Amino acid sequence: MAPPGPSETIGAVLTDVEGTTTSISFVYDVLFPYAAARLDRYCSQPDPGPELAAALSQLRREHDEETAKGMALPPFGADYARRLMAEDRKSTGLKLLQGLIWEEGYLSGALQGHVFPDVPEALAAWRVAGLRLRVFSSGSVRAQQLLFGHTGYGDLTPLFEGYHDTTTGPKREAASYAAIAAAYGLAPGEILYLSDVREELDAAAAAGLRTGLLVRPGNQPSEPGGHAVYGDFSVI
Ligand SMILES: [Mg+2]
Repeated sequence: MAPPGPSETIGAVLTDVEGTTTSISFVYDVLFPYAAARLDRYCSQPDPGPELAAALSQLRREHDEETAKGMALPPFGADYARRLMAEDRKSTGLKLLQGLIWEEGYLSGALQGHVFPDVPEALAAWRVAGLRLRVFSSGSVRAQQLLFGHTGYGDLTPLFEGYHDTTTGPKREAASYAAIAAAYGLAPGEILYLSDVREELDAAAAAGLRTGLLVRPGNQPSEPGGHAVYGDFSVI
């Protein structure tokens, strides 16, 4: 970790997930195909439980709204969900549906949340040093908790005091990081944000956070742009 300035110390670490704690490949090559392969079954459940029913009715509302706007879409159901996934659309209904599919996968042991090997040890060491840890990811809070709750290193969720997704705000806007600093109850300068995406780090820095760019295997090359650069968590 960069030495703190004379009047401030690091009190907390806020971490991104994809490309930072976790390989991008796990998300695109494991999680997304796992959900895609189960959309038909989930979308055509004759007797969905309350959570699945809520996810499907949210998805149907979105489908109806888009249809009303004149968009050419597949009929409501798995084909529509697949289209949203293929286009990487920000759909609340799709996120809910994927969350339920992944939950079943994690609970059955079919899915195991990927974290890089340096991550569990570093997080635990930071906690011992008194640092407070939170997550900020575009994946839903539920998806974050499932991933960290079912890693090959066991349940890492006791290490984190909080989780933020885009309901807190977009990842490339400074206001989101100010809101998270307020949730910590810390001055922004006491928080170190770790991410693989330069624009997110720029937004965090604009809000006054300290920043570190993670360069993990499989990440897109990124210009550091003044941010500290780390190959893994053990060197922070
Ligand atoms: Mg990322």
